[in-house]
Amino acid sequence: MTTLFARIIRGELPSDMVYQDELVTAFRDINPAAPVHILIVPNKVIPTIDDLTDEDQLLAGRMMLVAKKLARMEGIAEDGYRLIINCKKHGGQEIYHLHMHLIGGRPLGPMILRW
Ligand code: AMP
Repeated sequence: MTTLFARIIRGELPSDMVYQDELVTAFRDINPAAPVHILIVPNKVIPTIDDLTDEDQLLAGRMMLVAKKLARMEGIAEDGYRLIINCKKHGGQEIYHLHMHLIGGRPLGPMILRW
């Protein structure tokens, strides 16, 4: 299976890549919601967080630790930031290749719209 993000990770499509290791790749969101908006993506295709398995523990932990490191590198760790993983239709997921959004650089307001 391939995805838009898999093609970015393989270097087949352009991106503003900020980090890559043997498990995850991070690149800037093409349509940023804030001054810092980075996507942290597993190198292997996992469609949604609902598809994670026990074998993915190291990968899941790596995504969090890379987010923390990148937040420091981007200078937003002190003021704070938000990590978001959208899952499927109700979560608003558009791209079915698991990714964590690292968003910051301005006050982000309430977590979700109230209804
Ligand atoms: P989600 O709604 O959680 O699936 O988020 C998908 C994100 O991917 C959106 O914030 C898009 O702006 C972003 N996106 C889509 N295409 C690209 C691309 N080619 N490079 C970087 N980010 C992208």
